[in-house]
Parts: sequence; structure tokens; C-alpha cells
Amino acid sequence: MAERSLTLMAVHAHPDDEATSTGGVLARYAAEGITTVLVTCTDGRCGDGPGGVKPGDPGHDPAAVVAMRQAELEASCAALKVTHLETLGYADSGMMGWPTNDLPGAFWVTPVDEAADRLAELIRQYRPDVVVTYDENGFYGHPDHIQAHRITMAAVAKTDVPAKVYWTTVPRTAFAEFGKIMQELGVEWAEPDESQPQLGLPDEEITTWVDTRAYGAQKFDALATHASQTENIFFLQLGRERFTDLMGMETFVRVRDTTDAPLPEDDLFAGLR
Ligand SMILES: [Zn+2]
Repeated sequence: MAERSLTLMAVHAHPDDEATSTGGVLARYAAEGITTVLVTCTDGRCGDGPGGVKPGDPGHDPAAVVAMRQAELEASCAALKVTHLETLGYADSGMMGWPTNDLPGAFWVTPVDEAADRLAELIRQYRPDVVVTYDENGFYGHPDHIQAHRITMAAVAKTDVPAKVYWTTVPRTAFAEFGKIMQELGVEWAEPDESQPQLGLPDEEITTWVDTRAYGAQKFDALATHASQTENIFFLQLGRERFTDLMGMETFVRVRDTTDAPLPEDDLFAGLR
């Protein structure tokens, strides 16, 4: 029997999240011969539509947005050389508090157990050694990101398959750098809201720092396939080189581990190869 390659599974909420937070590791590990599986939970229907039409505005046609974003997602996967793309097809719930949160079929109102069963099936099929998703706040509080976190942790518990599980994060020191560049580019940058949980983590709480700078161009190209979404335009304005400087180190917190690889580590597969 042929030896099975190591496998990485990334579970994301929307088309484009794969590029921003894990584009580097997806590209790097594919290049190293590791099988990469991207699971995208929602269809992105609450995003900007063709021609920049905003959700809620007249002419925002969810079906057209879904079709456009599916094509963008496929192009992004091609840029990152993702081995397998799986979409769960739940309706994008929109930002916290939007009426779309509670529509039938919205990811946010889907019972965690039900969606976790579907993800568990994929975990049994692909047998990932490493699974990556968001922290319990979905990094920044988006309902679909929170739900992606919940179903992933539930599916891991149901299957007991992955040796390692990680949550994506950003070092607090990187936010300062971010703010500076935003100002330089004249982008409006809201000061962090004290009433909200602080984003990211202090550097010393980050367990895993993966250098993906050699794959910065691929990550940039993946994000460029999602240029229809306004929030990505800031990054694209940076150009490939600056984007790589700013976004080339991908950071994680290890929350499950059966390998005893010492921390901090610089490889999601440390202890597995
Ligand atoms: Zn998202």
C-alpha cells in the first residue's frame, strides 16, 4: 500500500478567509508535498456583489454573489494549489446583529451538532493530521467564524482523528505595525473598541510561528482573486512585497497535540515528520 501523505485541513467561514489567514501555510505545505484540504462553511452571500453592490442595497442579488464568490474561491484554491476544496454551502449569516443571522439555512442558526456531523464525515474521509480554524471569538466576532470554530472543535471531539489542532491568531505587535501602514495609505483605521475582546494575542502566548514569506506571492495572488470584496482591497494596495513583509509570518495557538513537539514551534507538522 502506498504511504499516505500528511494532510492539513483548514476550516474557514467564507470564500476569502482561506487566503487572508492561512494562504501562506496552504501554499507552503502543498509545495512540501502535503495534502491540503480547504473546507469553506458558507456561500458568502452577504458579501459585496458584482459591480460592488453592497448587501442590503437594491440590486444585491444573493444568487449572483454566491456564483461570483464560488468562482473566486476556486481561483484562490488554484493559486494556493489546494488539493481538495469542500464547501458546506450554508448561507452566510452576515455581521453580528444583521437580520440575515436568523434566516433559515443561515450558518449561525444551524445546530452545531448537525454541521459538526457533516464536518466529521470529511475528517473521517481525509484523516487530517493537522486541523486549523479560528479561536472561540472567531478572531473578530463574526458569527460565521464563531460557528466555524464551534463545529470544528465538535467534529474533532467526535472523530478524535487529528494529531494537532490550531487556532489562527495575530500577534499584538503586528497590529501596531498594521495601524501605521493603514495611516500611511490614508485608510480609515478605527482605534480598538475597549468594550470588545482584544484581537490577537500577546507574542508570548503564540505557540507556533510559520514562516511563509517564500509563498507571499501565491498568498497575494489568492487574495487578489477575491478583489470584489472591499475589505481585501487594503491588502492588495500594499503590493506583493510589502504584503509579504506584513503577512508572511502566520501565527497560531496549538490547542490539541498528541506529538509532544516542544513549544514554541515553527512548523504545524512538527513532531509528525
Ligand atoms: Zn470571513
